[in-house]
Amino acid sequence: MLAVLLLCVGFGWLANISISVYAHRALAHKAVALHPAPAHVFRFLIFLTTGTRVRAWVAVHRKHHAYVDREGDPHSPVVHGIAPIFFAGYRYYFRESTNEATLRRFGHDCPDDWLERNLYEGRSNLGLALLAAIYLGLLGPWLGLLGFALQLMWMPLCAGVINGLGHHAGYRNHETRDGSRNVVPLALVIAGEAHNNHHRFPRSAKFSTRWWEFDVGWAVIRALAACGLARELYVYDRKWRPGAPLPAVRPAEAAPFEAAGS
Ligand SMILES: [Zn+2]
Ligand SMILES: [Zn+2]
Repeated sequence: MLAVLLLCVGFGWLANISISVYAHRALAHKAVALHPAPAHVFRFLIFLTTGTRVRAWVAVHRKHHAYVDREGDPHSPVVHGIAPIFFAGYRYYFRESTNEATLRRFGHDCPDDWLERNLYEGRSNLGLALLAAIYLGLLGPWLGLLGFALQLMWMPLCAGVINGLGHHAGYRNHETRDGSRNVVPLALVIAGEAHNNHHRFPRSAKFSTRWWEFDVGWAVIRALAACGLARELYVYDRKWRPGAPLPAVRPAEAAPFEAAGS
């Protein structure tokens, strides 16, 4: 049973870090430039552990920023209610991820190579089939099936925490026009996605803004940068400290999609 939990948490962590660093910070917000090597690793891990098409994830997330907490936001608990988004938020995500208009308007600047067209996008379920084979191979039929079933619940659960609680419960460091909140200071399980900080500085590669907040994704980016495999393109004003007046939002901080509809 311990092996089941270790595998679930291990793959879950890899999934969350890959989504946070690659799909969220590097692609959706262009906050980080990644060397092709880690970029390919993250793409494969997202394919293997989530069944998520990266372009669809980026498009739905950019639309969330463009319409945050008002009509048009694909998964706002303020608009749709906390219970539906927390318990069934993945359904809202899937519905929006098949909306061609959303993909066309918000899905730009995403990978469009042979791998994406023929494997990651074209056969996204193959990744989960491979993950099931890994579980069955390592744990045998019964424990393997149990582990894989638990693994399938990981992403919907994290989506409920970030998209639901991240706009409903928790603390706020910054006044923003939306209802975003940081769920816990030690956002270990959700890769350091401090949501209120992120909505205040959406272009920043670093999400933590207080010393006691631990941003796992930022730690991964700094480790990759130390090896010459990543470079942050924008970080909120390093001189700013909590309690001081907020820095003006620089033009570089507002991506074109964030201005859409607001
Ligand atoms: Zn949000
Ligand atoms: Zn974002």
